[in-house]
Amino acid sequence: MSAGLATVSYIAAIILFILSLGGLSNPESSRRGNLYGMIGMAIAVLATIVGPRVTGGGIGWIIGALLIGGSIGMYLARTVQMTQMPELVAFMHSMVGLAAMVVGFASYIDPGFTGGASPAEQSIHHMEVYIGVLIGAVTLSGSVIAFGKLSGKIGGKPLLLPGRHFVNLIGLLLVLYFGYAFLQAETAQDGMLPLIVMTVVALLFGIHMVMAIGGADMPVVVSMLNSYSGWAAAATGFMLSNDLLIVTGALVGSSGAILSYIMCAAMNRNFLSVIAGGFGSDGGTPAPKAAGSAEPVGEVSPILAAETAELLRDAKNVVIVPGYGMAVAQAQHTVFEITRFLREKGVNVRFAIHPVAGRMPGHMNVLLAEARVPYDIVMEMDEINDDFPETDVAMVIGANDIVNPAAQEDPGSPIAGMPVLEVWKAKTSIVMKRSMASGYAGVDNPLFYKDNNRMLFGDAKKMLDEVLVALKAG
Ligand code: NDP
Repeated sequence: MSAGLATVSYIAAIILFILSLGGLSNPESSRRGNLYGMIGMAIAVLATIVGPRVTGGGIGWIIGALLIGGSIGMYLARTVQMTQMPELVAFMHSMVGLAAMVVGFASYIDPGFTGGASPAEQSIHHMEVYIGVLIGAVTLSGSVIAFGKLSGKIGGKPLLLPGRHFVNLIGLLLVLYFGYAFLQAETAQDGMLPLIVMTVVALLFGIHMVMAIGGADMPVVVSMLNSYSGWAAAATGFMLSNDLLIVTGALVGSSGAILSYIMCAAMNRNFLSVIAGGFGSDGGTPAPKAAGSAEPVGEVSPILAAETAELLRDAKNVVIVPGYGMAVAQAQHTVFEITRFLREKGVNVRFAIHPVAGRMPGHMNVLLAEARVPYDIVMEMDEINDDFPETDVAMVIGANDIVNPAAQEDPGSPIAGMPVLEVWKAKTSIVMKRSMASGYAGVDNPLFYKDNNRMLFGDAKKMLDEVLVALKAG
Protein backbone atom coordinates (compact mmCIF):
# COMPACT_ATOMS: atom_id res chain seq x y z
CA MET A 1 0.00 0.00 0.00
CA SER A 2 1.33 3.46 -0.87
CA ALA A 3 1.95 6.05 1.85
CA GLY A 4 -0.89 8.18 0.45
CA LEU A 5 -3.43 5.36 0.63
CA ALA A 6 -2.29 4.47 4.14
CA THR A 7 -2.84 8.09 5.22
CA VAL A 8 -6.32 8.13 3.66
CA SER A 9 -7.14 4.87 5.49
CA TYR A 10 -5.89 6.36 8.77
CA ILE A 11 -8.09 9.44 8.30
CA ALA A 12 -11.10 7.17 7.59
CA ALA A 13 -10.31 5.20 10.77
CA ILE A 14 -10.05 8.41 12.82
CA ILE A 15 -13.42 9.63 11.51
CA LEU A 16 -14.98 6.28 12.39
CA PHE A 17 -13.51 6.44 15.92
CA ILE A 18 -14.99 9.90 16.44
CA LEU A 19 -18.38 8.68 15.15
CA SER A 20 -18.02 5.68 17.46
CA LEU A 21 -17.52 7.89 20.52
CA GLY A 22 -20.51 9.99 19.47
CA GLY A 23 -22.64 6.82 19.15
CA LEU A 24 -21.56 5.48 22.54
CA SER A 25 -22.86 8.58 24.30
CA ASN A 26 -26.43 7.35 23.99
CA PRO A 27 -27.80 3.83 24.71
CA GLU A 28 -29.95 3.91 21.58
CA SER A 29 -27.04 4.60 19.24
CA SER A 30 -24.42 2.62 21.18
CA ARG A 31 -24.65 -0.50 18.99
CA ARG A 32 -24.01 1.63 15.92
CA GLY A 33 -21.17 3.34 17.78
CA ASN A 34 -19.61 -0.04 18.52
CA LEU A 35 -19.89 -1.05 14.89
CA TYR A 36 -18.13 2.15 13.73
CA GLY A 37 -15.38 1.47 16.25
CA MET A 38 -14.89 -2.10 15.02
CA ILE A 39 -14.78 -1.07 11.35
CA GLY A 40 -12.37 1.78 12.18
CA MET A 41 -10.06 -0.56 14.08
CA ALA A 42 -10.13 -3.16 11.26
CA ILE A 43 -9.17 -0.45 8.75
CA ALA A 44 -6.44 0.87 11.07
CA VAL A 45 -4.88 -2.55 11.64
CA LEU A 46 -5.05 -3.52 7.95
CA ALA A 47 -3.60 -0.21 6.75
CA THR A 48 -0.75 -0.58 9.24
CA ILE A 49 0.08 -4.16 8.26
CA VAL A 50 0.06 -3.58 4.52
CA GLY A 51 1.30 0.01 4.86
CA PRO A 52 4.69 1.30 3.73
CA ARG A 53 6.37 1.02 7.13
CA VAL A 54 6.17 -2.75 7.39
CA THR A 55 8.77 -4.36 5.21
CA GLY A 56 10.28 -7.76 4.48
CA GLY A 57 10.05 -10.38 7.21
CA GLY A 58 8.28 -7.94 9.58
CA ILE A 59 4.88 -8.94 8.27
CA GLY A 60 5.31 -12.56 9.41
CA TRP A 61 5.96 -11.42 12.99
CA ILE A 62 2.95 -9.11 12.93
CA ILE A 63 0.60 -11.79 11.62
CA GLY A 64 1.92 -14.24 14.23
CA ALA A 65 1.38 -11.68 17.01
CA LEU A 66 -2.09 -10.85 15.65
CA LEU A 67 -3.08 -14.52 15.68
CA ILE A 68 -1.87 -15.05 19.26
CA GLY A 69 -3.29 -11.77 20.60
CA GLY A 70 -6.53 -12.15 18.62
CA SER A 71 -7.08 -15.71 19.90
CA ILE A 72 -6.50 -14.66 23.52
CA GLY A 73 -8.84 -11.68 23.06
CA MET A 74 -11.55 -13.82 21.47
CA TYR A 75 -11.26 -16.45 24.22
CA LEU A 76 -11.53 -13.79 26.94
CA ALA A 77 -14.48 -12.06 25.26
CA ARG A 78 -16.35 -15.36 25.00
CA THR A 79 -15.67 -16.59 28.52
CA VAL A 80 -15.67 -13.43 30.64
CA GLN A 81 -18.68 -13.00 32.92
CA MET A 82 -20.44 -9.63 32.89
CA THR A 83 -19.42 -9.19 36.53
CA GLN A 84 -15.75 -9.65 35.62
CA MET A 85 -15.79 -6.92 32.96
CA PRO A 86 -14.24 -4.22 35.20
CA GLU A 87 -11.30 -6.52 35.99
CA LEU A 88 -10.94 -7.26 32.28
CA VAL A 89 -10.93 -3.54 31.49
CA ALA A 90 -8.27 -2.94 34.19
CA PHE A 91 -6.23 -5.80 32.74
CA MET A 92 -6.46 -4.28 29.24
CA HIS A 93 -5.34 -0.90 30.56
CA SER A 94 -2.32 -2.59 32.13
CA MET A 95 -1.49 -4.14 28.73
CA VAL A 96 -1.59 -0.71 27.05
CA GLY A 97 0.75 0.61 29.77
CA LEU A 98 3.09 -2.35 29.31
CA ALA A 99 3.10 -1.85 25.53
CA ALA A 100 3.98 1.85 25.90
CA MET A 101 6.82 0.94 28.27
CA VAL A 102 8.25 -1.79 26.06
CA VAL A 103 7.97 0.30 22.88
CA GLY A 104 9.72 3.14 24.73
CA PHE A 105 12.69 0.99 25.68
CA ALA A 106 12.82 -0.63 22.23
CA SER A 107 12.76 2.66 20.36
CA TYR A 108 15.46 4.03 22.67
CA ILE A 109 17.77 1.08 22.12
CA ASP A 110 17.08 0.66 18.39
CA PRO A 111 19.49 2.92 16.45
CA GLY A 112 17.09 2.75 13.49
CA PHE A 113 14.86 5.31 15.23
CA THR A 114 17.38 8.11 15.59
CA GLY A 115 20.09 7.12 13.15
CA GLY A 116 20.73 10.07 10.86
CA ALA A 117 18.52 12.40 12.89
CA SER A 118 19.75 15.85 13.95
CA PRO A 119 20.64 16.40 17.65
CA ALA A 120 17.42 18.37 18.13
CA GLU A 121 15.33 15.55 16.62
CA GLN A 122 17.14 13.04 18.81
CA SER A 123 16.40 15.10 21.94
CA ILE A 124 12.72 15.31 20.99
CA HIS A 125 12.61 11.55 20.45
CA HIS A 126 14.30 10.94 23.82
CA MET A 127 11.78 13.20 25.51
CA GLU A 128 8.94 11.24 23.87
CA VAL A 129 10.53 8.00 25.10
CA TYR A 130 10.90 9.29 28.66
CA ILE A 131 7.32 10.58 28.87
CA GLY A 132 5.91 7.47 27.13
CA VAL A 133 7.71 5.09 29.51
CA LEU A 134 6.65 7.23 32.49
CA ILE A 135 2.94 7.20 31.62
CA GLY A 136 3.11 3.56 30.56
CA ALA A 137 4.70 2.45 33.84
CA VAL A 138 2.18 4.36 36.01
CA THR A 139 -0.68 2.92 33.92
CA LEU A 140 0.73 -0.60 34.15
CA SER A 141 1.25 -0.84 37.91
CA GLY A 142 -1.84 1.27 38.76
CA SER A 143 -4.02 -0.98 36.58
CA VAL A 144 -2.60 -4.16 38.10
CA ILE A 145 -3.52 -2.89 41.59
CA ALA A 146 -6.95 -1.79 40.32
CA PHE A 147 -7.40 -5.29 38.88
CA GLY A 148 -6.52 -6.74 42.30
CA LYS A 149 -8.92 -4.43 44.12
CA LEU A 150 -11.81 -4.97 41.71
CA SER A 151 -11.44 -8.75 41.77
CA GLY A 152 -11.23 -8.76 45.59
CA LYS A 153 -7.66 -10.13 45.60
CA ILE A 154 -6.51 -6.94 47.34
CA GLY A 155 -8.63 -5.37 50.12
CA GLY A 156 -10.67 -2.31 49.16
CA LYS A 157 -9.49 -0.30 52.19
CA PRO A 158 -7.10 2.58 51.35
CA LEU A 159 -3.48 2.10 52.29
CA LEU A 160 -2.40 5.36 53.87
CA LEU A 161 1.35 5.58 54.31
CA PRO A 162 2.53 8.23 56.76
CA GLY A 163 3.52 11.34 54.80
CA ARG A 164 2.14 9.92 51.57
CA HIS A 165 1.98 13.31 49.83
CA PHE A 166 5.63 13.83 50.70
CA VAL A 167 6.44 10.39 49.23
CA ASN A 168 4.66 11.41 46.00
CA LEU A 169 6.58 14.69 45.91
CA ILE A 170 9.92 12.87 46.30
CA GLY A 171 8.85 10.56 43.44
CA LEU A 172 8.09 13.57 41.23
CA LEU A 173 11.45 15.19 42.01
CA LEU A 174 13.26 11.92 41.22
CA VAL A 175 11.44 11.68 37.88
CA LEU A 176 12.50 15.25 37.02
CA TYR A 177 16.09 14.72 38.15
CA PHE A 178 16.55 11.48 36.20
CA GLY A 179 14.77 13.02 33.24
CA TYR A 180 17.45 15.68 33.13
CA ALA A 181 20.20 13.02 33.43
CA PHE A 182 18.53 10.97 30.69
CA LEU A 183 18.39 13.89 28.24
CA GLN A 184 22.01 14.80 28.98
CA ALA A 185 23.25 11.25 28.31
CA GLU A 186 25.61 11.03 25.34
CA THR A 187 25.00 7.38 24.49
CA ALA A 188 22.09 4.94 24.82
CA GLN A 189 24.19 3.07 27.38
CA ASP A 190 24.55 6.16 29.59
CA GLY A 191 20.86 6.94 29.36
CA MET A 192 19.72 3.45 30.29
CA LEU A 193 20.30 3.79 34.05
CA PRO A 194 18.22 6.99 34.50
CA LEU A 195 15.50 5.46 32.31
CA ILE A 196 15.38 2.29 34.41
CA VAL A 197 15.41 4.19 37.71
CA MET A 198 12.55 6.43 36.52
CA THR A 199 10.61 3.33 35.41
CA VAL A 200 10.93 1.79 38.87
CA VAL A 201 9.85 5.09 40.52
CA ALA A 202 6.86 5.34 38.14
CA LEU A 203 5.84 1.73 38.82
CA LEU A 204 5.98 2.38 42.59
CA PHE A 205 4.03 5.62 42.16
CA GLY A 206 1.28 3.75 40.25
CA ILE A 207 1.01 1.15 43.01
CA HIS A 208 0.98 3.80 45.74
CA MET A 209 -1.59 5.95 43.94
CA VAL A 210 -4.20 3.20 43.55
CA MET A 211 -3.49 1.50 46.89
CA ALA A 212 -4.31 4.82 48.61
CA ILE A 213 -7.77 5.00 47.07
CA GLY A 214 -10.55 3.31 48.92
CA GLY A 215 -14.15 3.44 49.95
CA ALA A 216 -16.43 3.91 47.01
CA ASP A 217 -13.96 5.97 44.95
CA MET A 218 -12.65 3.16 42.74
CA PRO A 219 -14.90 4.14 39.77
CA VAL A 220 -12.94 7.37 39.40
CA VAL A 221 -9.69 5.42 39.40
CA VAL A 222 -10.97 3.03 36.75
CA SER A 223 -11.91 5.86 34.39
CA MET A 224 -8.73 7.74 35.25
CA LEU A 225 -6.60 4.71 34.32
CA ASN A 226 -8.64 4.51 31.14
CA SER A 227 -7.53 8.07 30.42
CA TYR A 228 -3.89 7.25 31.27
CA SER A 229 -3.94 4.27 28.91
CA GLY A 230 -5.05 6.68 26.14
CA TRP A 231 -2.20 9.08 26.88
CA ALA A 232 0.21 6.13 26.99
CA ALA A 233 -1.00 5.11 23.51
CA ALA A 234 -0.64 8.70 22.27
CA ALA A 235 2.91 8.83 23.66
CA THR A 236 3.65 5.58 21.81
CA GLY A 237 2.28 7.23 18.67
CA PHE A 238 4.79 10.08 19.09
CA MET A 239 7.64 7.60 19.61
CA LEU A 240 6.70 5.69 16.47
CA SER A 241 5.67 8.81 14.49
CA ASN A 242 2.28 7.19 13.95
CA ASP A 243 -0.44 9.85 13.55
CA LEU A 244 -3.30 7.41 13.95
CA LEU A 245 -2.02 6.21 17.32
CA ILE A 246 -1.53 9.81 18.47
CA VAL A 247 -5.11 10.80 17.57
CA THR A 248 -6.68 7.59 18.87
CA GLY A 249 -4.71 7.82 22.12
CA ALA A 250 -5.74 11.45 22.53
CA LEU A 251 -9.41 10.52 21.95
CA VAL A 252 -9.25 7.80 24.63
CA GLY A 253 -7.19 10.00 26.96
CA SER A 254 -9.48 13.00 26.76
CA SER A 255 -12.75 11.04 26.88
CA GLY A 256 -11.42 9.13 29.92
CA ALA A 257 -10.52 12.42 31.59
CA ILE A 258 -13.99 13.84 30.88
CA LEU A 259 -15.60 10.66 32.26
CA SER A 260 -13.46 10.89 35.43
CA TYR A 261 -14.60 14.48 35.87
CA ILE A 262 -18.26 13.54 35.34
CA MET A 263 -17.96 10.69 37.85
CA CYS A 264 -16.33 12.98 40.41
CA ALA A 265 -19.10 15.53 39.95
CA ALA A 266 -21.74 12.78 40.26
CA MET A 267 -20.13 11.51 43.46
CA ASN A 268 -19.53 14.97 44.89
CA ARG A 269 -15.79 14.26 45.06
CA ASN A 270 -12.91 16.57 44.33
CA PHE A 271 -10.90 15.02 41.49
CA LEU A 272 -7.51 16.06 42.88
CA SER A 273 -8.39 14.75 46.34
CA VAL A 274 -9.35 11.37 44.90
CA ILE A 275 -6.07 11.18 42.98
CA ALA A 276 -4.12 12.22 46.07
CA GLY A 277 -5.65 9.16 47.70
CA GLY A 278 -7.12 8.30 51.05
CA PHE A 279 -10.71 9.11 50.18
CA GLY A 280 -13.24 6.98 51.95
CA SER A 281 -11.41 7.13 55.26
CA ASP A 282 -10.11 10.57 56.13
CA GLY A 283 -11.44 12.09 59.30
CA GLY A 284 -14.38 9.75 59.56
CA THR A 285 -15.33 6.33 60.80
CA PRO A 286 -13.07 3.93 58.98
CA ALA A 287 -14.72 1.40 56.70
CA PRO A 288 -15.32 -1.59 58.98
CA LYS A 289 -12.83 -4.34 58.14
CA ALA A 290 -13.04 -5.48 54.51
CA ALA A 291 -15.99 -4.96 52.18
CA GLY A 292 -18.82 -7.29 53.02
CA SER A 293 -18.08 -7.37 56.74
CA ALA A 294 -19.96 -4.44 58.32
CA GLU A 295 -21.76 -5.44 61.49
CA PRO A 296 -25.55 -5.01 61.35
CA VAL A 297 -26.76 -2.53 63.96
CA GLY A 298 -30.54 -2.87 64.19
CA GLU A 299 -33.72 -4.85 63.53
CA VAL A 300 -34.92 -5.45 59.99
CA SER A 301 -38.34 -6.48 58.64
CA PRO A 302 -38.11 -9.38 56.20
CA ILE A 303 -40.69 -9.88 53.45
CA LEU A 304 -41.62 -12.88 51.28
CA ALA A 305 -41.71 -13.02 47.48
CA ALA A 306 -45.51 -13.43 47.48
CA GLU A 307 -45.96 -10.33 49.66
CA THR A 308 -43.60 -8.41 47.39
CA ALA A 309 -45.72 -9.40 44.39
CA GLU A 310 -48.83 -8.17 46.21
CA LEU A 311 -47.24 -4.78 46.97
CA LEU A 312 -46.13 -4.46 43.33
CA ARG A 313 -49.57 -5.40 42.00
CA ASP A 314 -51.27 -2.78 44.18
CA ALA A 315 -48.76 -0.04 43.29
CA LYS A 316 -49.29 2.79 40.79
CA ASN A 317 -45.66 3.92 40.67
CA VAL A 318 -42.73 1.54 40.97
CA VAL A 319 -39.05 2.45 40.74
CA ILE A 320 -36.50 -0.34 40.32
CA VAL A 321 -32.94 0.35 41.49
CA PRO A 322 -30.49 -2.17 40.08
CA GLY A 323 -27.02 -2.65 41.58
CA TYR A 324 -24.02 -4.92 41.48
CA GLY A 325 -25.99 -7.88 42.91
CA MET A 326 -28.33 -7.86 39.89
CA ALA A 327 -25.26 -8.33 37.68
CA VAL A 328 -23.94 -11.13 39.91
CA ALA A 329 -27.28 -12.93 39.86
CA GLN A 330 -27.81 -12.25 36.13
CA ALA A 331 -31.34 -11.26 37.08
CA GLN A 332 -31.86 -8.61 34.38
CA HIS A 333 -34.04 -10.83 32.16
CA THR A 334 -36.44 -11.67 35.02
CA VAL A 335 -36.46 -7.97 35.94
CA PHE A 336 -37.59 -7.23 32.41
CA GLU A 337 -40.32 -9.92 32.59
CA ILE A 338 -41.66 -8.39 35.81
CA THR A 339 -41.49 -4.91 34.31
CA ARG A 340 -43.41 -6.02 31.23
CA PHE A 341 -46.07 -7.75 33.34
CA LEU A 342 -46.58 -4.72 35.58
CA ARG A 343 -46.66 -2.28 32.68
CA GLU A 344 -49.31 -4.38 30.96
CA LYS A 345 -51.38 -4.04 34.17
CA GLY A 346 -51.00 -0.25 33.97
CA VAL A 347 -48.31 0.18 36.65
CA ASN A 348 -45.84 2.97 35.93
CA VAL A 349 -42.47 1.19 36.20
CA ARG A 350 -39.18 3.07 35.84
CA PHE A 351 -35.53 2.32 36.52
CA ALA A 352 -33.20 4.55 38.54
CA ILE A 353 -29.55 4.33 37.53
CA HIS A 354 -26.86 5.63 39.86
CA PRO A 355 -23.70 6.79 38.05
CA VAL A 356 -21.49 4.32 39.96
CA ALA A 357 -23.93 1.40 40.24
CA GLY A 358 -22.23 -1.94 39.63
CA ARG A 359 -18.53 -2.13 39.00
CA MET A 360 -17.96 -0.05 35.88
CA PRO A 361 -19.38 3.08 34.29
CA GLY A 362 -22.58 2.22 32.44
CA HIS A 363 -22.69 -1.31 33.94
CA MET A 364 -26.43 -1.27 34.63
CA ASN A 365 -27.32 0.39 31.30
CA VAL A 366 -25.52 -2.42 29.47
CA LEU A 367 -27.36 -5.14 31.42
CA LEU A 368 -30.78 -3.51 30.99
CA ALA A 369 -30.16 -2.97 27.28
CA GLU A 370 -29.17 -6.64 26.99
CA ALA A 371 -32.52 -7.58 28.58
CA ARG A 372 -34.31 -5.20 26.14
CA VAL A 373 -35.69 -2.86 28.79
CA PRO A 374 -37.02 0.19 26.85
CA TYR A 375 -34.58 3.13 27.10
CA ASP A 376 -37.31 5.65 27.85
CA ILE A 377 -38.05 4.14 31.28
CA VAL A 378 -34.38 4.03 32.31
CA MET A 379 -33.67 7.25 34.25
CA GLU A 380 -30.47 8.84 35.49
CA MET A 381 -30.24 9.59 39.23
CA ASP A 382 -30.81 13.33 38.79
CA GLU A 383 -33.90 12.74 36.65
CA ILE A 384 -35.67 10.52 39.17
CA ASN A 385 -34.42 11.29 42.67
CA ASP A 386 -37.16 13.86 43.33
CA ASP A 387 -39.86 11.34 42.39
CA PHE A 388 -39.35 8.92 45.30
CA PRO A 389 -41.91 10.63 47.61
CA GLU A 390 -44.59 9.85 44.95
CA THR A 391 -43.34 6.27 44.52
CA ASP A 392 -45.34 3.40 46.03
CA VAL A 393 -42.65 0.74 45.84
CA ALA A 394 -38.92 1.27 45.37
CA MET A 395 -37.42 -2.14 44.59
CA VAL A 396 -33.68 -2.29 45.22
CA ILE A 397 -32.14 -5.26 43.43
CA GLY A 398 -28.66 -6.17 44.68
CA ALA A 399 -27.71 -2.53 45.33
CA ASN A 400 -26.31 -1.24 48.59
CA ASP A 401 -23.88 1.71 48.65
CA ILE A 402 -25.86 3.67 46.06
CA VAL A 403 -28.98 3.69 48.29
CA ASN A 404 -27.19 4.26 51.59
CA PRO A 405 -28.76 7.20 53.51
CA ALA A 406 -25.59 7.43 55.66
CA ALA A 407 -24.08 9.37 52.74
CA GLN A 408 -26.48 12.19 53.67
CA GLU A 409 -27.13 11.57 57.35
CA ASP A 410 -23.71 10.68 58.76
CA PRO A 411 -20.90 13.19 58.09
CA GLY A 412 -18.42 10.66 59.53
CA SER A 413 -19.35 7.97 57.01
CA PRO A 414 -16.66 6.97 54.48
CA ILE A 415 -19.21 7.68 51.75
CA ALA A 416 -20.41 11.01 53.25
CA GLY A 417 -21.29 13.49 50.53
CA MET A 418 -21.79 10.92 47.78
CA PRO A 419 -25.19 11.55 46.17
CA VAL A 420 -27.43 8.51 46.60
CA LEU A 421 -30.83 7.35 45.35
CA GLU A 422 -33.30 8.36 48.08
CA VAL A 423 -35.36 5.17 48.03
CA TRP A 424 -36.30 5.52 51.72
CA LYS A 425 -38.59 8.42 50.71
CA ALA A 426 -40.85 5.98 48.82
CA LYS A 427 -43.94 4.62 50.58
CA THR A 428 -42.24 1.23 50.83
CA SER A 429 -38.73 0.22 49.86
CA ILE A 430 -37.81 -3.42 49.33
CA VAL A 431 -34.14 -4.41 49.37
CA MET A 432 -33.34 -7.66 47.63
CA LYS A 433 -30.03 -9.23 48.70
CA ARG A 434 -28.73 -12.45 50.20
CA SER A 435 -27.63 -11.32 53.65
CA MET A 436 -26.87 -8.29 55.78
CA ALA A 437 -23.39 -7.99 54.27
CA SER A 438 -22.19 -4.55 53.25
CA GLY A 439 -21.46 -3.43 49.69
CA TYR A 440 -18.25 -2.41 47.97
CA ALA A 441 -17.49 0.48 50.35
CA GLY A 442 -17.74 -1.84 53.36
CA VAL A 443 -20.15 0.33 55.36
CA ASP A 444 -23.37 -0.60 57.14
CA ASN A 445 -26.58 0.64 55.53
CA PRO A 446 -29.17 2.33 57.83
CA LEU A 447 -31.77 1.94 55.05
CA PHE A 448 -32.23 -1.69 56.06
CA TYR A 449 -33.53 -0.69 59.52
CA LYS A 450 -36.00 2.00 58.43
CA ASP A 451 -39.67 1.41 59.32
CA ASN A 452 -40.85 1.54 55.71
CA ASN A 453 -38.14 -0.82 54.45
CA ARG A 454 -38.50 -4.56 53.90
CA MET A 455 -35.74 -7.07 53.23
CA LEU A 456 -36.28 -9.80 50.65
CA PHE A 457 -33.39 -12.14 51.41
CA GLY A 458 -32.05 -14.49 48.75
CA ASP A 459 -30.33 -14.58 45.39
CA ALA A 460 -31.83 -11.82 43.25
CA LYS A 461 -32.59 -14.10 40.28
CA LYS A 462 -34.20 -16.76 42.46
CA MET A 463 -36.30 -14.26 44.42
CA LEU A 464 -37.40 -12.37 41.30
CA ASP A 465 -38.42 -15.67 39.66
CA GLU A 466 -40.60 -16.32 42.71
CA VAL A 467 -42.04 -12.79 42.55
CA LEU A 468 -42.87 -13.28 38.86
CA VAL A 469 -44.61 -16.61 39.53
CA ALA A 470 -46.60 -15.00 42.37
CA LEU A 471 -47.53 -12.02 40.16
CA LYS A 472 -48.81 -14.27 37.39
CA ALA A 473 -50.70 -16.45 39.86
CA GLY A 474 -52.36 -13.45 41.56
P1 NDP B 1 -22.67 -2.67 46.26
O1 NDP B 1 -21.37 -3.33 46.02
O2 NDP B 1 -22.73 -1.55 47.20
O3 NDP B 1 -23.73 -3.74 46.80
C1 NDP B 1 -24.05 -4.87 46.07
C2 NDP B 1 -24.91 -5.75 46.93
O4 NDP B 1 -25.37 -6.80 46.10
C3 NDP B 1 -24.16 -6.38 48.08
O5 NDP B 1 -24.44 -5.75 49.29
C4 NDP B 1 -24.60 -7.85 48.05
O6 NDP B 1 -25.21 -8.20 49.27
C5 NDP B 1 -25.64 -7.90 46.94
N1 NDP B 1 -25.52 -9.12 46.12
C6 NDP B 1 -24.40 -9.73 45.69
N2 NDP B 1 -24.72 -10.84 45.00
C7 NDP B 1 -26.06 -10.93 45.01
C8 NDP B 1 -26.98 -11.86 44.48
N3 NDP B 1 -26.59 -12.94 43.79
N4 NDP B 1 -28.29 -11.65 44.67
C9 NDP B 1 -28.72 -10.57 45.37
N5 NDP B 1 -27.90 -9.67 45.90
C10 NDP B 1 -26.57 -9.84 45.72
O7 NDP B 1 -23.24 -2.29 44.83
P2 NDP B 1 -23.91 -0.94 44.30
O8 NDP B 1 -24.22 -1.22 42.87
O9 NDP B 1 -24.97 -0.50 45.23
O10 NDP B 1 -22.76 0.12 44.39
C11 NDP B 1 -21.59 0.04 43.59
C12 NDP B 1 -20.36 0.16 44.47
O11 NDP B 1 -19.22 -0.26 43.71
C13 NDP B 1 -20.13 1.60 44.88
O12 NDP B 1 -19.53 1.63 46.15
C14 NDP B 1 -19.14 2.08 43.80
O13 NDP B 1 -18.37 3.17 44.20
C15 NDP B 1 -18.29 0.82 43.64
N6 NDP B 1 -17.61 0.72 42.35
C16 NDP B 1 -18.25 1.12 41.20
C17 NDP B 1 -17.59 1.12 40.00
C18 NDP B 1 -18.28 1.67 38.78
O14 NDP B 1 -17.61 2.16 37.89
N7 NDP B 1 -19.61 1.57 38.72
C19 NDP B 1 -16.19 0.61 39.88
C20 NDP B 1 -15.64 0.14 41.14
C21 NDP B 1 -16.34 0.20 42.32
P3 NDP B 1 -25.29 -9.75 49.73
O15 NDP B 1 -23.89 -10.25 49.73
O16 NDP B 1 -25.92 -9.70 51.07
O17 NDP B 1 -26.14 -10.45 48.73
